[in-house]
Amino acid sequence: MSDNPFRNLPSIDKLLQADSSQSLVAQYGRPLTLDALRSVLDDTRQHLADNGDVAPSVAEIIDAAQHTLSDWIAPTLYRVINATGVIIHTNLGRAPLSNAAIEAMHAVAGGYSTLEFDMSSGKRGSRSIHAARLLTRLTGAEAALVVNNNAGATILALSALAGADGKEVIVSRGQLVEIGGGYRMPDVMAASGARMVEVGTTNRTHLRDYRQAIDETSALILRVHHSNYAIIGFTSEPNIEELANLANETKLLCGDDIGSGALIDTTPFGLNPEPLVQHSIAVGADFVLFSGDKLIGGPQAGIIVGRREIIDRLKQHPLARALRADKLALAALSATLTHYLKDEALDAIPVWRMISRSVDDIAQTAQAWADHLAASGIACNVIEGESAIGGGSLPGEKLPSRLLAIQTPSPDRLAARLRQTDPPVIVRREGGQVLLDPRTVLPRDEYDLLQVLSKELN
Ligand SMILES: *Cc1c(COP(=O)(O)O)cnc(C)c1O
Repeated sequence: MSDNPFRNLPSIDKLLQADSSQSLVAQYGRPLTLDALRSVLDDTRQHLADNGDVAPSVAEIIDAAQHTLSDWIAPTLYRVINATGVIIHTNLGRAPLSNAAIEAMHAVAGGYSTLEFDMSSGKRGSRSIHAARLLTRLTGAEAALVVNNNAGATILALSALAGADGKEVIVSRGQLVEIGGGYRMPDVMAASGARMVEVGTTNRTHLRDYRQAIDETSALILRVHHSNYAIIGFTSEPNIEELANLANETKLLCGDDIGSGALIDTTPFGLNPEPLVQHSIAVGADFVLFSGDKLIGGPQAGIIVGRREIIDRLKQHPLARALRADKLALAALSATLTHYLKDEALDAIPVWRMISRSVDDIAQTAQAWADHLAASGIACNVIEGESAIGGGSLPGEKLPSRLLAIQTPSPDRLAARLRQTDPPVIVRREGGQVLLDPRTVLPRDEYDLLQVLSKELN
């Protein structure tokens, strides 16, 4: 054999003849396996040129290709256990779905459905009917339209109702919010073609500020939920009823972007009031915009409810087609909304089950975890703490909770290790401890959580 390590490198043909390559071909397919073998050979040549080592064996090359292949196809979107206590955690996928919502998605995912098919005539039907009947019944609005998300709903409404003819939208300076992901209200306004007229000051806006701004180029008064921030102290802004009355009197439209939106009163759970969709409609808002996957507890969606004439205008705008919701979201949203109609939302919708869960119940779970881990000699205890709502709703609002606290010399290192487990566990770090909040751990995740903790902490 030659001493030249490049000469000693096996050819692709020789590598493919090995039995172990054939099992890679069976698992990953021939084209991808070939790509991986070539990629390893290229890296090896580079390595030999730089370091002048001995050539690796056939087995070593195939072993490296196996790693390359599993790396290439490793999923990036997969299940994690949320032990952070943040209920609507945008980075962790917001609302977990109810069983009925999951079943509804399953039923339409693998086959054909009535998505745009009218069963009585056997002809083309309309996609927008699916959640609309439920939404109008729940909110008292005349009509409804579901799009991809609330950002989409906002841009559609502003484009169709003001942007198309360069008209003005009047909005309070205190409501020009930036939400996560670089979504800024003034930019959205600009993108829609509408001209934004800011009124009032950061902390105080009066009805007369709106009134003074109205002229013949005004189309719309928009209220925007503060979402993820709160102004406290010397503050005021007109409520939606006052804005709707002013709009009505001056022949403008009044829109309410309530962000999360809720269909259930949040105050019985010790939380501040979150705007209710049905309230905004009842006091005269012409349309209301909200998300499907925040406090509604359903799939990602942007929901628009309001006057029929307005919803029809939105449906006719070209953006409506670009932003339309897909069949899986419509199936899950319809099933989620049905829980509200059947008055079973607090039990059936995970987000509301978490919000309404009692501290005693959480304490019991936390103690059961602590006892389980103590039996394996792991030092931990149950402490008082708080859960957060998250998702740009109820800023800074907390629910009292009980947390499992794990003492460890390096909380950062333990948290990092728990992100590598199967399934990964996302935790909170505070005061030199790792904290886990049972409120956001789904019942079906508990067994896996304890397995993972026992293994990692021992
Ligand atoms: C969250 C939020 C949005 C964006 O909703 P998505 O469904 O995430 O697109 C828009 N406006 C307000 C006030 C919000 O809180």
